[in-house]
This record gives sequence, C-alpha cells and structure tokens, in this order.
Amino acid sequence: MSVKHLTRVNRLKMLYEGKAKSIYATDEAELVIQHFKDDATAFNGEKKGEIANKGAMNNQISARIFFFLNESGIKTHYIATLNENDQLVKKLAIIPVEVVVRNVVAGSLAKRMGKEEGTELDDPVVELYYKDDSLGDPMINRFHVNSFKIADLEHIRVMEVEAQRINNLLWSFFDERGLLLVDFKLEFGLHQGQLLLGDEISPDTCRLWDKETGEKLDKDRFRRDLGKVEESYKEVMDRVMK
Ligand code: ADP
Ligand code: UDP
Repeated sequence: MSVKHLTRVNRLKMLYEGKAKSIYATDEAELVIQHFKDDATAFNGEKKGEIANKGAMNNQISARIFFFLNESGIKTHYIATLNENDQLVKKLAIIPVEVVVRNVVAGSLAKRMGKEEGTELDDPVVELYYKDDSLGDPMINRFHVNSFKIADLEHIRVMEVEAQRINNLLWSFFDERGLLLVDFKLEFGLHQGQLLLGDEISPDTCRLWDKETGEKLDKDRFRRDLGKVEESYKEVMDRVMK
C-alpha cells in the first residue's frame, strides 16, 4: 500500500493516553496514530503544565529526525505526518525498557556521579531504565532484565547497539545545526516480530544546548523554570527543519 493511500486512514478510538501523547487506533490494524499534545510533565508527573504549540512543534521535529534516521538505515515506526499534531506510525508492542544515551554529564547522572553538569564524557554512557511510572522508572541493568523477565535479553543487546548508532547519527545531525546533543532517551518495540525504534525524539526527550553559548534549548527550561520554554522549542524546530 502506498504512503499516499495510508495517509487517508481514519483515526478511531484512543488506545492509550500518555502524559505528552495519545495513541489512536486506525482502520489499519497494524497502524496507529501518535497524537502530540501541549501537556508537559516533569519529575514523574509531579510537575504539570502546558507549553504552547509544543504538540505541533514536537510532531514536526520528531518526524524530521525519524525521516533522517530511516534514510540512514535505522528501522523505525515512523510512516508519515498526517496533520499539525498527528503522525502515522507502525503499531508497536513497546518493550518496557528506556535506553538513555549520554555524551555530556547532566541531570540525574550529574547527581549520581557527583560531577558538574557540562563535563564531557570521553565515551558515551548507555543506561537502561525500567518503564514503570508507579516505580518512577528506576535504572536497571541486563541482570534485572533477565531475573525479573522484563524483556528478551537479545532485544536489549540490539537496542544498546542501535542506540549507539543513533547517537553517532544524531550527534552529527545536531552539530551541523549548532546544537550539542547532551543526552536523550529512546524507546523500542516489536512490530510483526521486527524490533523498531518508536516513540519520539524531540526537546522533550533530548537535552540540546546551543554549541556557542551553552544555552539550554530543551525541556530543562520547563523542569527548572528557566523561562523562554516555547521560544527554545521553536529555536530547535527552526534549526532541525533547515
Ligand atoms: P508516557 O506513557 O510516559 O506518559 P507519552 O505521553 O509519550 O508517554 O505516551 C506515548 C506512549 O505511546 C508511550 O507509552 C510510548 O511507549 C507509546 N508508544 C510510542 N510509540 C508507539 C507505537 N508505535 N505503538 C504503540 N505505542 C507507542
Ligand atoms: N528522559 C526522557 N524521559 C524520561 C527520563 C529521561 O525523555 O522518562 C530523557 C531526558 O529528557 C534527558 C535524558 O533522558 O534527555 C536523561 O534524563 P535524566 O536521567 O538526566 O533524567 P532527568 O534529570 O531529566 O529526570
């Protein structure tokens, strides 16, 4: 079926309402619509708010990045952008393990390791987190994955390798646009037995700093009440779209 035909699919009932996005069924059983909202949360949902136009901006930013990754040989769920806030994606059984890749010390790593934010790492750090809101997404390793039967270990190994390939691609992609890719989070899932990159890549899920000034241009502006939140997402969008 052609992409043109696919973009005419109908949005049916909501399957899942998340904090930043909702997932809708379509008349194609294997496809879903990922709807991006303006809602923003931080600290495991303790801080709630809205960022004007965030849904539309993240929809565009994430689509551009997934298109780039698809072109670069990464297998992803992304099919097409349908309108301002919706994109058509392959339906995934999400693996409940988030993969975080870090190039520069920031956020929880700064606290955990007692190092100043902004310290560059000689080699990227890859971390796993158990995707469970009620537990606050604890950090885990492959032993937890195995003993608690969270996921197939072979899938986790592939996810770790893919995450590093994606980091190499995205580092250059953002660097060319004057942005430092500090860290980011990825989610993967299974579609007809195939492991695909899912969810989104946006200033909600990445730390992005201006290369020259070090200015934060991501969700930390919301988390830390730094102001100019919408403006920063817009800045990232303008650079990513060029
Ligand atoms: P959360 O669940 O943490 O509140 P979101 O608001 O981003 O996060 O909700 C989007 C949900 O959709 C996430 O739980 C994510 O794992 C899931 N998801 C992402 N891509 C797909 C997909 N292609 N198929 C099914 N679910 C997906
Ligand atoms: N991240 C995310 N969702 C999460 C946890 C982390 O998108 O549930 C992203 C976050 O935006 C950052 C990276 O993963 O780019 C590392 O986050 P960290 O562990 O430092 O947690 P934080 O301090 O942001 O809570």
